[in-house]
Formats: sequence, C-alpha cells, structure tokens
Amino acid sequence: MCPQTLHRGRRAKIIATIGPASRDPDTIAALYEAGADVFRLNFSHGTHADHAASVAAIRALEQDTGRPITILMDLQGPKLRVGTFTESKVVLRPGANFRLDLSPESGNEERVCLPHAEIFSALRPGSTLLINDGHLRLKVKTCGKDFAETEVVIGGVISDRKGVNVPDVTLPIPALTEKDRADLEFGLSQGVDWVGLSFVQRPEDVAEVRAAVKGRAGVLSKLEKPSALDQLDAIVELSDAIMVARGDLGVEMPMEQVPVLQKRIVRACRKRGRPVVVATQMLESMIKSPVPTRAEASDVATAIYDGVDAVMLSAETAAGLFPVRAVTTMHRIIGQVESDEHYLDLMRAGHGDVEHSSPAAITAAAGQIAHTLQAAAIVTFTSSGSTTLRAAQERPDVPILCVTPSLSAGRRLGLVWGVHALVGDFIHSVDDIGDVAVKGAMRCGIGKDGQALVITAGMPFGKVGSTNMVRVVWIGGETHIH
Ligand code: PEP
Repeated sequence: MCPQTLHRGRRAKIIATIGPASRDPDTIAALYEAGADVFRLNFSHGTHADHAASVAAIRALEQDTGRPITILMDLQGPKLRVGTFTESKVVLRPGANFRLDLSPESGNEERVCLPHAEIFSALRPGSTLLINDGHLRLKVKTCGKDFAETEVVIGGVISDRKGVNVPDVTLPIPALTEKDRADLEFGLSQGVDWVGLSFVQRPEDVAEVRAAVKGRAGVLSKLEKPSALDQLDAIVELSDAIMVARGDLGVEMPMEQVPVLQKRIVRACRKRGRPVVVATQMLESMIKSPVPTRAEASDVATAIYDGVDAVMLSAETAAGLFPVRAVTTMHRIIGQVESDEHYLDLMRAGHGDVEHSSPAAITAAAGQIAHTLQAAAIVTFTSSGSTTLRAAQERPDVPILCVTPSLSAGRRLGLVWGVHALVGDFIHSVDDIGDVAVKGAMRCGIGKDGQALVITAGMPFGKVGSTNMVRVVWIGGETHIH
C-alpha cells in the first residue's frame, strides 16, 4: 500500500469490533483493507494481553499504511449480574415468587444473589427487573436494604451470571467500576484514541470519566439508559462523541421506541457537532450468513441517510463466521447511499441552524464556497481537531482533508464523517498552507489540475476553537486569498 494515499472515497465511517474471529494480525489487516476505519476493543470480553496484542497489530498496520488508524476501547461499565445457581440454571414460571438478595449462597427456583447492595436501596415496589437481555421480567413486590421479593411476569431460563437491567430507576452507582478504572488506565497506557463509556445515566457520569481520562483520549458516551435520555442535551454537550447503543437501549426501553430514539439522539448530536455512532445488530445475520437480510441493509442505509458519523459491527466481526465480508458489505451499502443523488439533501434535512459564532459562520461559508466552485476538497489545518470537526458538522459536498501535526488528533478524527487525516510536520509558516494543501491533496489522490481547494484554519495555529480563516487555492494554479 502506498503511504498516505488511501482515500476511501466514503464519508461515513465503519467501526469493526475485534474478537476471537478477528484478533490475528492478518484478519485485522484484511478488515482495514475491506473498509474498517475504527477498531473497537470490547473490554467486556478478552484479557489485557488480548487487547495489547490487538493494539500492537493495529499500530503495526498503521506503520505499514502510513495512515492514522483509530482505536476505541469500550468499557464494560456497571453491568449488573446475578450470582450462580446450584444447578447452573433454573426455570422461572410466570406468577411465581422469586427473591433477589445479598446472600452468596448458590441460587435455586426461589432465590438468587444479586451482589449489588446499592440496587436494593434504589428499588421500589412496582420497579421492573429485566434479566438476560430482557427475556425475563420480574416485578418488585416488596424490598428492603438487602433484598427484593419479586413476582415473575415473564418467565424462562435464568442461568449463572446473567445480566440484569433496571430500566425505571436511576441507580446510585458510580460511572466506573473498579474493573473499568483498571481497564481504562491500561487502555490509555496502550494509547487508545477513544474511550466508550457504558450505561451513562447522567451528565455527572461523563464528567467523572473526563476527570479520569484527563484529555488522553476522546470520551464517547454510550446511550442505553432511559435516564440518560432525560438529560440528552447535557450529556451530548459534555461528551466528545455519542453512541446509540441499541442493544441495551432495546432492553431498557420498549423495542418500538428504539428507531425514534435513534433519530432523536442523532439529531441532538448533529446539532452540536458531536460525532455520533449507530451500533448493534446492524448486520446481525452475517454472524452466520455470508449475506445480510434486506432489512439489515436498509437499517444501515437509514443511519447513513440520517448523516451519522459511523456505523458499527459488533459480533459480526468479533465472533462471526464472515468478519471481512461484513465490513465489505457495510462499505458497499454506504457507497450506494452516498452515491444517491438525493443523499446530501436528505441528510442535510437533519442539520441544525448555524451557531452564532464567527468560527461556525466561516466554516459554513467554506462549505458554500466548496459547493459553488465544485471544489475537490475542504482542507482543514488543525492541531486539536476542532476546525476539522466544525467542517464535518456542515456535511459538505466534498471530502474533508485534515492536515495536522498531531498524530492523536489525526487518529481521533478517524471516527468523523468525511474526514481523511494527513499527519505530519508540514507547516512552518502561514504562507505554506496553499502549497501544503495542494501537495496533501495530490498525495491522497484528491482533485486534479484546475480544481479548487477550500482551506480553513485557525490563526494562530494551535489555539483551540479559533477557526477564523478561509482561503481558496487552485490545484496547479495561483492562490487567492479571501
Ligand atoms: C449495546 O448495548 O448496543 C452496546 C453497543 O454495548 P455492548 O455491546 O457493550 O453491550
């Protein structure tokens, strides 16, 4: 592969989760070749040694390709689980009583341990407990500080360590468990670019994680709890990116609300310029089948028409039989949507008003200039990434070439719609930007002689949020300052 040239010609990005089906370096390289832009390491599974090996393989690939590659670590978060059963599983019948308590004794048909004392104090008579991805439903009849007596509403098999969701209460638990804190420090020491925070309940959870991350990675909040949706705008504001985590969202909320909430979350993120990811079951049938269902293809397409920054593959690439094919399939679906003549108009229908600030106005103008001149690209010069994020928020007609001296900014922007980052120490003086933009575009295979490049930057370089310049240069021609 030729260093720094691989421009995929696609705006929306693909996240591929690494797991047993894809952990070896050859498969990671094949996933990247097929179109994976971001690799997700799911800390609900795997050992630190497994994740370290994946990071090493991804960084080696980055060296080979000369392209910044993005790594998202996904923390397990405060996932609640029941204890174990004497016979490893029991069947709960509808209408039966079932007790949850703190006793470490093995469970049976009458009771099991729920080893989370904080939960009992938050439960109320009438609260719902969902077990095993919502397959079983219990209703609390009475509760105290160390127990809950429940009635089985929907029965079924409950087995060792099955997950528990408590949708209708805000749980008095911290955003990070001891395991999360250890995983976080490990992931940051490995140089991950994004940290995914599971089960965000309130803005304070995001603030807590930001304090622990200390700017070493972007913070991506996973929205899967009803309580988070009550404070959606504040959570979006505090986060660097958002994921619509439809798996647990569809357990905690009625299934039919998931599509509506997906659109509401995407709108809130696009309005504030926060990258947004749609995740879970996008091509679920490809875990076992070489082709997706038509409904899955349509689901991916809907997210792309809504203008999301990235779509994610979970078990399809982590544990499926066709990990590379799943990425190729997603790449092809996105390509089809993006080449639809109505795509940009449909997607821009989700665009909010331009914020009343000079950086936002300049960025919007750059998009307009690129449109009028049918430019080859918008070229953003950035050190923090903020000028580039603004450009992406506009969802312009053309690719966004980001030129940055910061490898970490280049890597983080791999998650963002339309952005192709070029990392290097290219700029020594403001006078260089025209030449650097043209050379950068050529190197990435973007544009041809006579086409315009629209440049945005913030002067002085390095001052965050200071986008204050737009300039047009012509490939193979004179530069024009506006
Ligand atoms: C989800 O619940 O949709 C999700 C992405 O989280 P996880 O896969 O970590 O459960």
